[in-house]
Amino acid sequence: MGIELASAARVAPLEKAVPVVTTYCSHSSLQIFHGARAEGLGTLGIAVGKPPRYYEAFPLARPDRFLSLGALADLGEHAADLRREGAVVVPTGSFVEYMGPERFDALDVPIFGNRKVMAWESDREKEREWLERAGVPMPRKYADLSAVDGPVIIKYYGAKGGKGFYLAKKREELDQFQPTGPYVIQEYVVGTRYYVHMFYSPLSQDGYRVRHGSIELLGMDRRDEANIDELYKLGAQEGLRRAGIRPTFVVTGNVPVVLRESLLPQVLDIGARIVDTSVDLFGGMVGPFCVEGIVTEDLSFKVFEISTRIVAGTNLFVSGSSYSDYVAPQLSTGRRIALEIQRARSEGRLREVLS
Ligand code: ATP
Repeated sequence: MGIELASAARVAPLEKAVPVVTTYCSHSSLQIFHGARAEGLGTLGIAVGKPPRYYEAFPLARPDRFLSLGALADLGEHAADLRREGAVVVPTGSFVEYMGPERFDALDVPIFGNRKVMAWESDREKEREWLERAGVPMPRKYADLSAVDGPVIIKYYGAKGGKGFYLAKKREELDQFQPTGPYVIQEYVVGTRYYVHMFYSPLSQDGYRVRHGSIELLGMDRRDEANIDELYKLGAQEGLRRAGIRPTFVVTGNVPVVLRESLLPQVLDIGARIVDTSVDLFGGMVGPFCVEGIVTEDLSFKVFEISTRIVAGTNLFVSGSSYSDYVAPQLSTGRRIALEIQRARSEGRLREVLS
């Protein structure tokens, strides 16, 4: 038996009822509902205001029912009903962000994955501690501005979508830097970005083994980021700064990519180290996660961030990807979540994948 994340009381109703995969109507909800329906699970969409109409355009990904709220913050008031109905809440970036991580953490409804991961992901220092402990190669961190001796990216704490990040090619360019909050100074890694979609199952004994279970590589994307991706067309950074144009990294879309096959051992090893260390630190990061990194010209993969839940880049691979096709046919991350819930239920191990 593996590590138990949820109390027996919290998952008890689920041992009888058909699990109802429940998520916020945004982000990757179409894929999550589509995968749950394919595996015969119930589906419930959490909407703020009226149920969104866009599901009418996608009948195979429409939830069976909606729960309409005045605000996402009110979801906790419905916890007892949701538990009774067998809800399993699937976290997404938008869900956690708009509800607020503290409120989400306090939700007394079974959540797919380990809710303890949120404390480790939301704090840049803690996330670094986790990755360093795992021995994962990362961009160098500078203690202060005077130590900078190369290109840097300055990130504010909690800045979503890289808002207000400051780029500088050298120390002198930081003279004009006026911080607007707590920040970290990171080496700007010159290379190509890859966002690697993985899944950790503590139940599976097949495939790429880690200490308790195994990991799967389900897909990979690159994010389109406004305005940085097109900024070069306007000229060099200094000129842009003088013109008052600052780079931002707001994700506007995703494109599919594959890595050179010779780099796969590196990324799988990184995924395994991150998972094994998560088990030591807080009982394990169960389910989907994304390793976000940059491959340099000497072919080393440096991790600048991990997302500890389903990422929107997985929406590219509703019918499978160049990697998941080698794991199982038609395997989206949404469907993989549903399969894990089904397996845990049939083996009486829900407490290992829910919290
Ligand atoms: P989100 O919450 O949207 O994931 P964030 O605010 O946590 O974003 P990061 O994911 O750390 O910020 O970085 C945003 C973007 O900045 C990345 O997708 C990448 O394009 C760029 N970036 C981040 N770190 C580095 C780095 N060390 N070197 C070069 N580019 C970087």
